[in-house]
Amino acid sequence: MLRNKTREQNPEIRKTNFDEVSLGFDEQTAILEASRCLNCKNAKCKTLCPVGVDIPAFLEQVKLGNFLDASKIIKRSSNLPAVCGRVCPQESQCEMGCVCGKSQKLGGAVAIGALERFVADYALSHGEKTDKPILNGKKVAVVGSGPAGLTCAGDLAKAGYSVTVYEAFHKAGGVLVYGIPEFRLPKKLVQAEIDSLTDLGVQIICNVVIGKTITVDELLEKFDAVFIGTGAGLPMFMKIKGENLNGVYSANEYLTRVNLMKAYEQNSSTPVVKGKKVVVVGAGNVAMDAARTALRMGAEEVDIVYRRSRAEMPAREEEILHAEEEGIKFNLLTNPIEIIGDKKVEGIKCVKMVLGEPDASGRAKPIVLDNSEFIIECDQVIMALGTSPNPLIKRSLPKLQVNPKGTIVVDEESMQTSIENLYAGGDAVTGAATVILAMGAGKKAAKSIMEKLN
Ligand code: FAD
Ligand code: SF4
Repeated sequence: MLRNKTREQNPEIRKTNFDEVSLGFDEQTAILEASRCLNCKNAKCKTLCPVGVDIPAFLEQVKLGNFLDASKIIKRSSNLPAVCGRVCPQESQCEMGCVCGKSQKLGGAVAIGALERFVADYALSHGEKTDKPILNGKKVAVVGSGPAGLTCAGDLAKAGYSVTVYEAFHKAGGVLVYGIPEFRLPKKLVQAEIDSLTDLGVQIICNVVIGKTITVDELLEKFDAVFIGTGAGLPMFMKIKGENLNGVYSANEYLTRVNLMKAYEQNSSTPVVKGKKVVVVGAGNVAMDAARTALRMGAEEVDIVYRRSRAEMPAREEEILHAEEEGIKFNLLTNPIEIIGDKKVEGIKCVKMVLGEPDASGRAKPIVLDNSEFIIECDQVIMALGTSPNPLIKRSLPKLQVNPKGTIVVDEESMQTSIENLYAGGDAVTGAATVILAMGAGKKAAKSIMEKLN
């Protein structure tokens, strides 16, 4: 049987609203899809999951219609299943390992991500209860409430530790609330999964900037261990002429204004430029999110500008397809050299590129094509070129070892930093990566903290 497809909003309608694009499986399709699983003995899907979800076991329960039992199995390993089911790059992890994807006869990899999402949503809407653990008297502080911090906090809380999470923003969730747009990840679901953690006893304190309001040293005195999951929220720019013009944003700032500060709501007081002709520079998930957000904010035309070809685009295939369906224009093998305008953006000057031999990143090196300059007229430019960790923690804690890119150095096995009882994980350690890798790091750190404190 062929892999079942999830229902989606029509592209012409969805590009005018912020409602979720994917509508997921209904119960019947979920059971049909789970029934395609062969319950392999040495299931590769499971070994490729960075948090080790027992995939065959949860699929078996979905097959039987026991959705709450399926949820219990997932929750043994993942604290954020409704999030992972939506935004994890399953095609390059669990689903890549699925035997059904290895031969056409088997109809394609089992839709593990869509089934995880179905189970998580079912459990949330059927009021699954979380049992409060018995406290063991040990206290851990977590800095940052993104997927790394929340996972570390959740695993420790389940084991009886008193966990306090400090978050700089007024809302918990990290990129899940300030970056990934509502139409991909509804914020009420993120909040519901965070609520399950506070039900376990995790205390979340917002509006506290560690390194300013309280120092890490103060936390280390007050708590038995501290985990740093502060992400990589500092945007990069190209350092080209015109980047300081009105109408140029980093994708992070643009998406934060729209998502976290709700600039998309009709009566919102959050100021944001609503460009009519928008150029987004970059081709990762962040660029796709910025481009599709600009479209929903009323742009008549949105162009992606990317210096390599489609094959090298780092965004998930699903996100690229969704952007294409919604009418985003892709200018590939194109690189900006100047943003033009007098105070405000009026256009972006670009050159055409060709691909040469692989560079240090292993990808084909883009080379400028002579005499290929041209201008794309636009009134807004959004830079989605990647991010690096904010230097605040390092500045306030000089003895913390970081590498030249500003990421925190940890022991890969224990996730301990150069400082005793101080652990770190997620984008703050790896640089911008994925939700599930951040969760995997939070999990690993929680395990080491438990081993150390016991
Ligand atoms: P973050 O999620 O960045 O959370 C860090 C938190 O720490 C933030 O809330 C921040 O405010 C807080 N913080 C920072 N400094 C301090 C301080 N000094 N004191 C207190 N709090 C602090 N990944 C995927 O897998 N799939 C996707 O589809 C995907 N799409 C993405 C789209 C966008 C727009 C972006 C920006 C990223 C996307 N990613 C995606 C990447 C993914 O979201 C990140 O890799 C992941 O969120 C990293 O988790 P984290 O917990 O390390 O950090
Ligand atoms: Fe099921 Fe595919 Fe995992 Fe085998 S590899 S257990 S078929 S999901």
